[in-house]
Amino acid sequence: MRAARLVLIALGAVACNSDAPLATRHAPLPRIGLRRSKVEVPSAVSSWTLVLADTAGRIWIAQATASTPDTIATGTWAGSAALWSRLDSAPAARNLTLHTSIATTITSVLDSMTTGEPFGPVVTWELDGGGAGWSATGAGRLAIDMRHRTWRATGWATEAVGGAPERVRFDLIADTPMPLDPIVDPTPRGSVVIHTPAIVSLRIDDCMAADRVAFALLQRLGLTAEMAVPSRRVNRRGHCSQQLLDEMIAAGDPVESHSRLHWRTPATFGDFYLEAVGSAQDLRRRGFEPFVFIPPGTWRSGPTLMDGPGKLVGPYAELLRRVYVSTECYALPAAVSIPAPGRDGPVSWALKGRTVATLAERLRVAVTDSQWINFMWHAWDMTPEELESKLQVIAAFRDSGLVTVLPYYVALHAVRQ
Ligand SMILES: [Zn+2]
Repeated sequence: MRAARLVLIALGAVACNSDAPLATRHAPLPRIGLRRSKVEVPSAVSSWTLVLADTAGRIWIAQATASTPDTIATGTWAGSAALWSRLDSAPAARNLTLHTSIATTITSVLDSMTTGEPFGPVVTWELDGGGAGWSATGAGRLAIDMRHRTWRATGWATEAVGGAPERVRFDLIADTPMPLDPIVDPTPRGSVVIHTPAIVSLRIDDCMAADRVAFALLQRLGLTAEMAVPSRRVNRRGHCSQQLLDEMIAAGDPVESHSRLHWRTPATFGDFYLEAVGSAQDLRRRGFEPFVFIPPGTWRSGPTLMDGPGKLVGPYAELLRRVYVSTECYALPAAVSIPAPGRDGPVSWALKGRTVATLAERLRVAVTDSQWINFMWHAWDMTPEELESKLQVIAAFRDSGLVTVLPYYVALHAVRQ
């Protein structure tokens, strides 16, 4: 692929020195409307991720960085970029250039009401493939996404991919880069040897403060469980603390991603991107290493409701495969043979839906059929006594040498001997 160049175009009344692709910013933008917010506003952007979405559901992502951060002030910036058309693969194009130009044309709410123009800074961007068939341009209001606490602009763009120009939606997202390469599982398959017919995995969802009770139960019974964490809930009132998660990691209980906000169904691919990529970023900053993504149950429609094989193809699943080793979604089989044949394990069943008797029956079937099965619960699903009675059943099967209790990620690498 030929070297490509990304060109940024200035819009509106703001002067843009397009001859100087790394021109420094000047004149800091007004932060009106942000002053009362408790949200910390980043003053510069180290990387931009540009999501382009057409009406047929196709997604392209370009990602740009430069040695000089984009200072979010009027002026221009440019960074070298790569472009992906398949999100679990190598870039479709490298050596592109993304140019951004920030301008503030309307500086007061009154002006905005008078003219109907958006209030605040506007970013105009251009992705330039240097004649290699890749180009796109767009412009939109630049604002802090208060939920994700990052600069973001959305709007319409025009892109041409070796053909006629097409109108697409764009989402320009600051400082939430996806990995440059798809994740490589650092744990070899078959490296976890078990000596029982079956495997049982346990998972606690949503990271509540009350999960400390379950953690104590697990420790008393010598069991391990995976914690599915909405990354922005850590240390919030009513939710689990960093300290509890650190203690769980020390006890062998992995911390995995359960989205960032556990909010409603992402409305756009950009919203999904921030939940999937942002959550891994958050957890790594907290010192964890997530390998598994557990989609929230609040994602109830569209491509993020991964409830059938058809949902495991396409850009949503590709992005998850880029960032995570495995995704625990509703489309997975009820039980999986050992060793696991692919990169995913079994779907998780709600532990609250089992009585002690039906739980024991399910465990017997898993033992007979040499299966790996998976159970989950929330803090509010059962009283501590109910939870303990069910965990005791699992511990009894473990003590009888019939099942090994392993967290999902560990069980992915298990082989029977
Ligand atoms: Zn949840």
